[in-house]
Amino acid sequence: MNLLKGAVRGSQENPTVLLRHTTPNVVERQALTINPAKTCQPIGAMYAALGLHNCLPHSHGSQGCCSYHRSTLTRHYKEPVMAATSSFTEGSSVFGGQANLMQAITNIFSIYNPDIIAVHTTCLSETIGDDLTQIIAKAQEEGKIPAGKRVIHANTPSYVGSHVTGFAAMVKSMVTSFAAPAREKTRTVNLIPGWVEPSDMREIKYLAESMGVDAILFPDTSDVLDSPLTAKPLFYPKGGVTVDRLAITPASRLTIGLGPSASTVAGRELDTKFKVPLELLELPIGLKATDRFVNLLRRQSGAPVPAEVLDQRGRLVDLISDMHQYFYRKRVALWGDPDQLVSLTEFLADLDMRPVYVVTGTPGKNFERRMETALAGRVPEAKFRQGAGADMFLMHQWIKNEPVDLLIGNTYGKYIARDENTPFVRHGFPILDRVGHSYFPTVGYRGAMRLVEMMLNALLDHKDRQSPEESFELVM
Ligand code: SF4
Repeated sequence: MNLLKGAVRGSQENPTVLLRHTTPNVVERQALTINPAKTCQPIGAMYAALGLHNCLPHSHGSQGCCSYHRSTLTRHYKEPVMAATSSFTEGSSVFGGQANLMQAITNIFSIYNPDIIAVHTTCLSETIGDDLTQIIAKAQEEGKIPAGKRVIHANTPSYVGSHVTGFAAMVKSMVTSFAAPAREKTRTVNLIPGWVEPSDMREIKYLAESMGVDAILFPDTSDVLDSPLTAKPLFYPKGGVTVDRLAITPASRLTIGLGPSASTVAGRELDTKFKVPLELLELPIGLKATDRFVNLLRRQSGAPVPAEVLDQRGRLVDLISDMHQYFYRKRVALWGDPDQLVSLTEFLADLDMRPVYVVTGTPGKNFERRMETALAGRVPEAKFRQGAGADMFLMHQWIKNEPVDLLIGNTYGKYIARDENTPFVRHGFPILDRVGHSYFPTVGYRGAMRLVEMMLNALLDHKDRQSPEESFELVM
């Protein structure tokens, strides 16, 4: 009771109770993560599966995992996210979940009638050792999968990887499950967008179309998680890549993988199995990264960049040069997914900002090298960390030692922003307390303009709030 009273008293003195105890003394930790900059693998698999047309994601584990993953996606997208679960009981936790999954496949096809069930595992089913390849083959043999319907799967235990690797695993499964050998090459280009918002996927498609490239974008969550409100609710929204389009990916002349952490494994699969060359790019966030993407599309189409896209670029450069003085030497802390962080870091350095602290909980290769390439020696004081110890607690400690002017990351940063009275731009996953990310992209030239606007507004709002009366300006 005394402890409770203390907590309540503490909350009145300092409302950010959660982070009240963050100290500036950094202690190297071996076996403890505090406020991780990542979430569960299955969330990524579930999100990727929603980018398949007429697909119902299925969580092979206990109900709790599925409801957490669904609710996080629902809160981020403000859309009802459908997914089924094998709903493990004590019995299935001991003897395995085969019977549950077999029953689920029968129920789902007869009640919800999807074209595809995309099954992902959880910590529990992976620890038991359920063999999904065998269970799905048995369901096929026993006639539980109707003609023309498909069940695919990805292994996504959450004690390794992160939501990004779970996403990558399900995208790879789309290739292994649906790609069919091609007799001859076509002019299509496979385009793996990485983990980005539906709005970003729409913008990536727009850029490819404007450049005259016939792109097979997969997965594609536009028109799924940003669908309009109409009088006719659809259980399966109209968006998502179709099985027919995925089947012809081996005939494509090239695969463009955007964001190496999320797109490499699927791109490599197409390369290894079907000899479709893979070109990996950083996510087209910011001026230079978008230039590289547009240039690659231009080389594929052989056509010049259309005037509309050039004008978008010109407006971005104009905005940057008009407002550069507000960005100059501003120190920034970022957290989230490697693919977003690398491109954002490059963009911030291009704006003459100082991305000084960068953390990601997503493991994987080459993050350090990619960050060094993005920074190109421009911010020698930058600290970046990856993996279990690279959490938001550590980043907060760095901030306590030497503050920053701006925070960029998911909603969980709001406690640090409040604690440190620092401007905060929400970007990444999940964003649970704001809207806009589903509808307005941050990729491409138009997306970069939005990022500039969000950062500028956060910095200027803060300046307005903090300015003494004699320097409170109408025109900024
Ligand atoms: S960490 Fe594992 S058990 Fe926990 S919600 Fe994620 S998948 Fe489920």
